[in-house]
Amino acid sequence: MATPKSIVRARKFRTFTLAQIEEASGLDCGFCLACGAMQECCEPDACQYRCDDCKENQVYGAEELLIMGRVH
Ligand SMILES: [Zn+2]
Repeated sequence: MATPKSIVRARKFRTFTLAQIEEASGLDCGFCLACGAMQECCEPDACQYRCDDCKENQVYGAEELLIMGRVH
């Protein structure tokens, strides 16, 4: 679990740690794939919600992120 952050950033797709996903799931939150911000009031299966931070429709619920394999 000691992956340097620089390697994660260099990946084409943004991923999240299992701990982040679990925390988001417990808080009814999702994550923005564009900027990585946590968004509140996301159903676990939220898909392409609008991000409050970057205004991209790239917010996904915790369970959706797991299904998409965006966890490392
Ligand atoms: Zn965003």
